[in-house]
Formats: sequence, structure tokens, C-alpha cells
Amino acid sequence: QINIRSEFKDEAKVKALERRIKEDIEKLGREVYIMEFCGGHTHSIMKYGIDELLKGYVRFVHGPGCPVCVMPMQRIDLAIELAKIPNTVLCTYGDLLRVPGSNRKSLLNLRSEGYDVRMVYSCLDTLKIAQENPQKEVIFFAIGFETTTPQTAVLIQKAKDMGLKNLSVVCNHVITPAAIQYILNSPEIREIGKVRIDAFIGPGHVSVIIGTKPYHYFAEEFQKPVVISGFEPVDVMQSVYMIVRQIKEGRAVVENQYTRFVSYEGNSKAQKLVSEVFELRKEFEWRGLGIVPYSALKIRRSYEDFDAERRFIVELPKPKEHPACICGKVIRGVALPTDCKLFGTVCTPSNPLGSCMVSSEGACAAYFKYKRM
Ligand code: SF4
Repeated sequence: QINIRSEFKDEAKVKALERRIKEDIEKLGREVYIMEFCGGHTHSIMKYGIDELLKGYVRFVHGPGCPVCVMPMQRIDLAIELAKIPNTVLCTYGDLLRVPGSNRKSLLNLRSEGYDVRMVYSCLDTLKIAQENPQKEVIFFAIGFETTTPQTAVLIQKAKDMGLKNLSVVCNHVITPAAIQYILNSPEIREIGKVRIDAFIGPGHVSVIIGTKPYHYFAEEFQKPVVISGFEPVDVMQSVYMIVRQIKEGRAVVENQYTRFVSYEGNSKAQKLVSEVFELRKEFEWRGLGIVPYSALKIRRSYEDFDAERRFIVELPKPKEHPACICGKVIRGVALPTDCKLFGTVCTPSNPLGSCMVSSEGACAAYFKYKRM
């Protein structure tokens, strides 16, 4: 029986891949710029010191694949204002509670002021909360990429089946391919020399759901290799090697390193479930990227009774970022966390001033945790 954990953490394999990557890059004669879209990969790269190992050979450009980081200020403000509605329980995942809104307050601050704000580990926990509090409105603030969307779809269907009248959802689920396309079309990224992207390490967990199919367009249209990768050190090193190979051979295709979990078609059952409950939003704002067309989902009319955005209208403050926070640039991959004047001094994981320092998938938090000061 194979021990997957140790097989994909094998130091000898990492060393062998390091040698091959460096040999190939030396033949190329230039540094290779790779964007890892997903915050989980940023975390792995920092944790295992892969950036240090390949220093001078591979430049990792950290992408926007952290769901908490990309929530724009206006959405954080929306969660805060919804939580203030009398007789309401606002539920969401842990990290989001700590992101400061326009008035510098987070949901966690609100909770200490007496508002009923609750952290849930699974969105399905909100079903029980709604049943136990029939006199209150329970609002689930849903965030996440394609990985968590099916579970929110299950929540909405279950709430309907159970006839719950006091549970609703704010849908903030975002879509990976639209963001990749936006980045590739961005003038900042196209400016070869300053910030460039030679290739992508494609997200692993997201691709379990959507498959490798949606990435073929980018590889072909923008001539960028995409390798869907796992998260262990051997996975990441192997993916880098596959990318370097493609560049060396003048190819730009989609390859799947994470074959133990990701297929071409993805999880069709989950895709069907998602399309039953959600439809595309025409536009959605991402922190750092701005308005990205067709990059998020909204709840279909057939489930409108469970759509908190239709049920509750709240007045929002004018969105106000911390003036010195450069999260937007970090998310676009055009600045490093260490370029921020507040990094590691005023802004730390215990006192985050921007979303990238809150989530463990955020680039600022990863740099802080793994001491890239
Ligand atoms: Fe924003 Fe803090 Fe990161 Fe600076 S270190 S960009 S303030 S989150």
C-alpha cells in the first residue's frame, strides 16, 4: 500500500526534480515566471521553501486564489450591515470574521459589541441554527471558489425541502476561469519585463469540481502552459518541471499533475447541482482586480426566497480601504507582501489591516508565517 503523504513529501524526489528544473532553465537562459493561482499553492510554496529552493530560476507570482482575500470592501461592509439588522444571526466561515470593513471594524468586533455573529465550519450548520431560532432571521454569508459552491447549493435545496422560512444566503461564490482570463487580459500583466507570467500552476481543489476542461482555452488563446497541481512538495516541484519542459519544447497546453483527484470533466454531479441553484452574475467586483465580468454566481429566481440580497436591503458606507494597504497589488501579483510598508510591523495575523493577512491562504499571511521578511 502506498503512503500518499510520504510519497509526495519525499526529499530525494524533490532534490531530483530540483536538479532537472535547474538544468532545463539553464538551457533556457532566463528566469521563468509562474503564477500559482491558488492561495493553497502559495502556502505550500512558502511552507516547503520551494521559492528559496528555485531562487534565481523560478519567480512565483502569487495569484488571487484566496476567497477571503478577493472579497471587496463593499461585500465585507454588506456582511457587517446585515449583521446589524435586529433579530438577525449572521453566520459565515472563520477567516471572514476578521477582515476589517470600511470603518475598520470586523464582524468579530461586532460580535464583541453584542451582535449575533457566528462562525460555522460547514454551511449546513446554519440549518440547525435556523431551526433552533425560529424567531430570528439566519443569514449565511457564503464565500469561496468552485470548491465550496456545491455545498452552498445543497444548503439552499435542503432549506427549501425543510420549508425553512428564516434562512437565507448571500452568494459570493466566485469563478476561477473568469479571473484567469481577466489577469491575462490585464495590461499590467502583459507588460513584459516588469511583471509577466510565463505559465500557470492551476488550482487543485477547484479543478476537482470543474475538471481540466475550462483551462484549455487559456493555454491555446494566450499560449500559456497550465499545469493543474497537487499541494505536496513533490506535486509542486513536478508541476514546475512539467511547465519548464513545455516552455523548453515551445508547447502551451494543459497538463494534469493532480491525476489522483482531478479528471478532464470534473465532478459532473456537483456541476449539475450548482447550475440548478445558481446562475452567472453579469459582473462582480474582486478586491484588486475590480469588476470582472461573469466571474461570480447568484441565486436563481426559483430559489429567490433564500436569497438574502433580495430579502434585505441595507445602506452601505462608501468603501474605504486602509490607505497604506497594497492588498490589491498583491492579489494582482504585481507586488509582494514585503513591498508593503505595514507588513509584519503594523499589520500582522493578530492585527490584520487587509484581507491578505487574514486568511492562511493569503500571500501576506503566508509570508509572515514562513518568515519571508
Ligand atoms: Fe495589506 Fe497588511 Fe498585506 Fe500590507 S501587509 S498589503 S496592509 S494585508
